Amino acid sequence: MSETIKTDVVIIGAGPVGLFAVFELGLLDIKAHLIDILDKVGGQCAELYPEKPIYDIPGIPFITGHGLTGALMDQIKPFNPTFHLNEMVTTLEKIGDPLFRVGTDRGKVFEAKVVVIGAGGGSFQPKRPPIPGIEPYENKSVHYAVRKMDAFRDKRLLVVGGGDSALDWTLNLQPIAKRLTLVHRRDEFRGAPDSVNKMRALVAAGDMDLKIGQVSALEGADGQLAAASVKGKDNVERVECDAMLPFFGLTMKLGPVADWGLKMEDELIPVDTAAFETNVPGIFAIGDINTYPGKLKLILSGFHEGALMAQKAYHYVYPDKRLVFQYTTSSTSLQKKLGVA
Ligand SMILES: Cc1cc2nc3c(=O)[nH]c(=O)nc-3n(C[C@H](O)[C@H](O)[C@H](O)COP(=O)(O)OP(=O)(O)OC[C@H]3O[C@@H](n4cnc5c(N)ncnc54)[C@H](O)[C@@H]3O)c2cc1C
Repeated sequence: MSETIKTDVVIIGAGPVGLFAVFELGLLDIKAHLIDILDKVGGQCAELYPEKPIYDIPGIPFITGHGLTGALMDQIKPFNPTFHLNEMVTTLEKIGDPLFRVGTDRGKVFEAKVVVIGAGGGSFQPKRPPIPGIEPYENKSVHYAVRKMDAFRDKRLLVVGGGDSALDWTLNLQPIAKRLTLVHRRDEFRGAPDSVNKMRALVAAGDMDLKIGQVSALEGADGQLAAASVKGKDNVERVECDAMLPFFGLTMKLGPVADWGLKMEDELIPVDTAAFETNVPGIFAIGDINTYPGKLKLILSGFHEGALMAQKAYHYVYPDKRLVFQYTTSSTSLQKKLGVA
């Protein structure tokens, strides 16, 4: 287990609301670490609709999900938050008054005076392909994410899927794999045309294999794959492999949030509307994960919630200090923090 990371605030979820919370906390001299299971920031905006326009961000008539994520990252730059991506928060315990211990599935441990849950609709988790008996191989020789490319060096790899993730990992892993086979159910790909062309060029040069069909069965022992059956239109082919990487997209599941002993209502966390604090003082819930009378699951609501949360969080982080309300337009102290004065 790694050394404990001590910080003022841990934000669980780096969606738009978690990102803007960094800004509101930063104005009050509160440092934050953000943890997200995705390999990128932006939550639903980045994962579900990066190219779609959003028309109801106050003062911005039109911006895409990707554009909003980029703008939020620019806005919080002065506060230099630390991101821990590809990591799921699994545990949250109260160890002081208030002091919390937060643990991730990669063994990181944090201690923070305040925890902000910005977990949206829950954690994005990979969709499991419909292959009978896949469970014993999962996380041993069947992997839904690539955390360390080197783990796949000199291995016979089976990448499954037809979207950007499958194609990107095909192109990245092919040079280090012993042999790479891409399996997709049809000879058309949803991924970027440039990646499709590069993949087809590798196949034409004999540097990798492409099989059209579906993985129907796995062979192996003790979680170690030996081969997979690929069912095509007219035949079933046996492909020997050491590891399989299925990329079938992501689904949102509430995940571990439900296990943290917080009061829950229909998979949402009830909060007060003065500070968006949960039933545990020092733990706040903002954005799509919370519920209160009149709640609207909109980005602008989450931004407002983050601003009020920060005001209350200040008193936990600096119990002996008085908080003076200030405007960014007129406060030189705030402008200094933003690096503009
Ligand atoms: C197609 C579509 C269009 C939309 N259009 C609009 C619109 O036009 N205007 C608007 O205001 N809203 C819109 N929304 C809703 C908007 O995207 C959400 O309100 C917003 O994303 C909520 O932000 P959030 O930060 O609370 O949560 P999310 O964006 O869901 O981010 C939460 C993050 O928390 C992470 N997470 C969860 N649990 C854990 C855990 N245990 N450990 C680590 N990480 C975890 C998740 O991986 C995720 O990245 C739209 C939504 C969709 C799906």
